[in-house]
Parts: sequence; structure tokens; C-alpha cells
Amino acid sequence: MRRASALLLAAGVLSSTMALADARDVWMFAQWAGDHQTRPFREMLVDARLYGVVPIHQLLRSASDWKLCHASPFAVPPASNWPAVRSTLSLIHTLDGQGLLRQFEVVSAYRNPDLNRCAGGAVGSAHTRAFAVDILLPGWVDPNPLCRFWQQHGQAWNMGLGRYPSGRIHIDTAGYRTWGGDGGSNSSFCSKPR
Ligand SMILES: [Zn+2]
Repeated sequence: MRRASALLLAAGVLSSTMALADARDVWMFAQWAGDHQTRPFREMLVDARLYGVVPIHQLLRSASDWKLCHASPFAVPPASNWPAVRSTLSLIHTLDGQGLLRQFEVVSAYRNPDLNRCAGGAVGSAHTRAFAVDILLPGWVDPNPLCRFWQQHGQAWNMGLGRYPSGRIHIDTAGYRTWGGDGGSNSSFCSKPR
């Protein structure tokens, strides 16, 4: 019994350090979902066999700065963006299946234009007009295999790949391009294949 609780405690410490301390957890999501309509979106994901590719409480996270921007912690993308949701999730599913996203956590996905502006997102960002995910990976994960995937298959997926100095990675399927901290391709960790 004591051993079991020690193990549970160790697992708890481990998972809390790996969760990178985002307050928008499953419990906060359950509370929010109590008075927000998420069912049609969830049914769409089930029909597309994409439910669970990203845990729903992460998939619907708005912007990391939601509090600062007096915005909702979660947001359901409008139905017009759902085809983009499906293509980006198919890509995430493929990347995950190839072991390129280890222990990833989505910290931002759909943002309405007002929140995007407040959160410092690019004008016309894929977070508003299509569907993008910002991902945190543990520090020990090498991002270069992601770059190689983008170089080899990015055009076919219409894949956008950004990486910021913080290590946060942006993935979408709204155009074949790459960028780094200054928003341009020259600052990207990943160069375009010749
Ligand atoms: Zn992003």
C-alpha cells in the first residue's frame, strides 16, 4: 500500500513536471464545456477518426495569453475551419506515428481574430483563418527530424512549420513555408531543400 502510494506520488511529480504547468487542464475544460457547445465539433472528429489525436482539452486551447487578453481559455473553431482542422490533425497523427512528436502538448490552436491580435499573432495567422497548433516538446526532443519531414513531405501536406526561440513549434496545413523568431524563413531552424 505504502509502496503503491509512493509510486503514485512519483508518477504525479513526473507528470506535473512534464505537463509544463498549463492551468487549462481536463478539469478546467470540463467546467468550461458545461456551458459551451462542443458536441458537433467532437462528433466531426469522431466521424473523421481523428478524435484523440490531440486530447480535447488541449485541442481547444485558445491562446496562452488568454487571461491577459481577458479571453476564454478554450474556443471551438467555426465550422468553416473544420476542413483545416481535419488536415492539420491528420498531419499531427502522421508525425506522431513516425515518432517525430514525443510527449507533445498543444498550448494554442484556434484563436478568434481579436484574441490573435492581443496575443501577438501574425495578421491573417493560420490560427484564425485555418487551423494551426502551437506545440511544446520536452527539452530533450530533437526538432531536426521534424525539419527533415518538412523538407521531404511538407509540400505535399501544404505544411507550415515555425519554431520560436522559446522552443515552441507551430504546425499548420495552410501553406508550404517555414519561419523562425522574426517570422521570416531566414531565422528558421529548417532550411528549404534545394
Ligand atoms: Zn502558432
